[in-house]
Amino acid sequence: MAKRDTGVLPAGGQRPACRLPQNATAVLSGTSPGESAERLGPALVSGGASQTPVAVLNVAQLPSLAQDSVSWLRQLGRPSWIDIPGIDSSRRRVLTTLLHGNEPSGVLAIHRWLQGLDTPAVNISLLIASVTTALQEPVFSRRMAAGQRDLNRCFKAPFNDQQGHLAQQIMERIISLQPECVIDIHNTSGSGPSFAVATADGFAQRNLAGFFCRRLIVTDLRLGSLMEIDAGCPAVTIECGGARDEESQATALAGIENITTADVLFPAAPRHELEVLHHPVRVILKPAVTVTYSASPSEDSDVTLWPDIERCNYGITPVDRCLGWVGPGGLRQLAAPDTAGIDRVSHLLREDNGWLYPARNLRLFMATTNAKIARDDCLFYAVAAT
Ligand SMILES: [Zn+2]
Repeated sequence: MAKRDTGVLPAGGQRPACRLPQNATAVLSGTSPGESAERLGPALVSGGASQTPVAVLNVAQLPSLAQDSVSWLRQLGRPSWIDIPGIDSSRRRVLTTLLHGNEPSGVLAIHRWLQGLDTPAVNISLLIASVTTALQEPVFSRRMAAGQRDLNRCFKAPFNDQQGHLAQQIMERIISLQPECVIDIHNTSGSGPSFAVATADGFAQRNLAGFFCRRLIVTDLRLGSLMEIDAGCPAVTIECGGARDEESQATALAGIENITTADVLFPAAPRHELEVLHHPVRVILKPAVTVTYSASPSEDSDVTLWPDIERCNYGITPVDRCLGWVGPGGLRQLAAPDTAGIDRVSHLLREDNGWLYPARNLRLFMATTNAKIARDDCLFYAVAAT
């Protein structure tokens, strides 16, 4: 199912040459129309010794797009905003991506989209965040740099480390831009279908999700992710499928084209029917518990999950589908805290002579076979299937 993505687009491709908006050269100062440097603060463009400076570029300032996407990223060299004037310059939409360095579909799609750029319906501000992390060899292999926090968990205080400063700069600029919406594009850790995530289930969130996919997950978990910031507009995360899934980049590109060409963001009637799922719970390992992915129980780890666990990201996972082996430690090694801090693991999972099963039919998301991500983030998200 999953196929290896080369991670590099052919230069130029079949798309037409970049057609810059008429007023593209009008805003080369490092800020956007209606946005003063004073408002942004000097740290945004220059950065202090302990901060990661964020470039603010107009589209006319970009490194040559007629090169492969990794070379282009190398020329960007650091977290970068790209501002693109639109037909209606009184409105703006914000699209962000590469908060996680191992999730390339959003930035690959942006590079491709910029190659054939037509003037968007409204001003667009793109953020490409973890450029240096993504470029560490092998490229697109690290979620975050060694010793640093997960950037998409840093959009809440305290902001007193490098990633916190970066998140704060990003957040302040988004707020200052007063956008109509914020779209944050990611890949799932493992192979899986595309879906949107929002902190509220409203007309606006459903419309935004519909530009990219046909499924919306509404969560009451608050992790410090970018979509949680209060920018005065609706925000959604788009998980456009697995980083190595061939179709993920096409999903991201189609969504970007849809949302940048639409004049009306929130039409009276929804664009599409969406499947909406509420309040999945993260299933995590308790401290010091180890996990491995193997076709048989491992003696070297406390928990073994089967290597085909990513298949559970598709459809319903029934109660008789064995997920792995928890051995004598049982379910006590796992936790699934809800927003009230109540552990729901026995509501979601059961153990039978050491084997791990769903306790009820489940929908799983973000199941991965990357033990480090499973350890640092979660094994998967789960919600009871209806
Ligand atoms: Zn991500």
